[in-house]
Amino acid sequence: MFDSLKKELSRRALLHKAGYGFMGLGVTGVVGHIIKPVRTFAQAPSKEPSLPPEKKLGWAVVGLGKFATEQIMPSFAECKRSKLVALVSGDRPKAEKYAQQYGIDPKNIYNYQNYDSIRNNPEVDVIYIILPNGMHAEYSIRGAQAGKHIMCEKPMANTVEECQAMINAANKANRKLMIAYRAQYEPYNLATIQLAQSGKIGKLKSITSDHGRTLNPKDPADIWRMQKKLAGGGSLYDIGIYSLQAARYVTGEEPVAISAMMYSTPGDPRFREVEENVNFVLQFPSGVLANCTSSYGYSNTKRIQVFGSDAVLELDPATDYYKHRLVIKDKNGNQEQKIEEKNQFALEMDHLSESIMQNKQPKTPGEEGLQDVRLMQLIYEAARTGKTIKV
Ligand code: NAD
Repeated sequence: MFDSLKKELSRRALLHKAGYGFMGLGVTGVVGHIIKPVRTFAQAPSKEPSLPPEKKLGWAVVGLGKFATEQIMPSFAECKRSKLVALVSGDRPKAEKYAQQYGIDPKNIYNYQNYDSIRNNPEVDVIYIILPNGMHAEYSIRGAQAGKHIMCEKPMANTVEECQAMINAANKANRKLMIAYRAQYEPYNLATIQLAQSGKIGKLKSITSDHGRTLNPKDPADIWRMQKKLAGGGSLYDIGIYSLQAARYVTGEEPVAISAMMYSTPGDPRFREVEENVNFVLQFPSGVLANCTSSYGYSNTKRIQVFGSDAVLELDPATDYYKHRLVIKDKNGNQEQKIEEKNQFALEMDHLSESIMQNKQPKTPGEEGLQDVRLMQLIYEAARTGKTIKV
């Protein structure tokens, strides 16, 4: 079952090694400690057929929660290839309010029951699933079966089997499936990948990545995150996945061994079904070791550090929505790298629209999401058994 996945992942590792992971930022090098981005994914020249200048694909957003309404929907204004044309919600008045705000025709408002009839709407090319994690598989599969391309939020789904079913459904319908790993389209993270993989900080030795925040049981967006069925897992599935992703995209490698420990505060009602803290260590084929943490208990942290034989990169905040800071620490001291901030949500959405228009595989396809879910399951197993697991 994993043979095709393995092939795809070793292909990705090669592409990463070849610098593909940094395509699009076009860093010109460190000039006076300023990295100048010369182009972005959305503008990257390519050998693919050129795109019609004004063409935008129509997108439907499924689930009008916090992330959809506060980050994604406003970001369409900065898209060059994607426009918001439809909404799917269980709350009709809420959907009508947003339809009016974004100039969406009320006939393009769907609910979870009539969702499948979106197949008859030629204005919708892509469906963006922004529901609780436990609902990603069902709505992605129904969307693909309705003949639409799919963008799905992270984590891809609760289980490896669900991820595989999503990939199968997209393949069967001949539609694209992309996982919304925004950091892989974000200029500071791309610069970090490029610096780490280009030898600029010497030989890569170690990575640390920490993602944590305190889970708030009064926030409606955190209530389903306390329920295993809807969340799939605890802090690891929600934000530790950024630490895991960072270790994978900074090295461009896949881990070969995993060890982990897990701890939840006894008696804390937030952690009856899902875990609070997971610390895990990944070993990569090159010998790089990554120490990662994930927590629903410690204060807001989104950090990546990359340790090379000649210098250290510190990206903190690393995976914020709009604010990043990258510092190179070497024998000359600390040098902050200034890079133009870009709307990573617009970049990732346009990347999928362009991939569809040019009929090419998106950079973060379903297989990428499946690999993280598979690795997170192994991290849990390593923590449960206390054994180092060979991948
Ligand atoms: P949210 O609770 O604010 O939004 C979820 C939406 O789903 C709500 O509108 C809710 O009404 C709807 N919903 C439908 N059926 C539901 C049910 N049975 N139970 C609960 N809600 C139901 O959550 P959110 O923070 O917006 O997260 C949504 C998704 O987006 C998650 O998969 C999350 O991991 C992802 N997310 C990604 C990022 C990122 O940076 N990429 C950031 C935040 C959230």
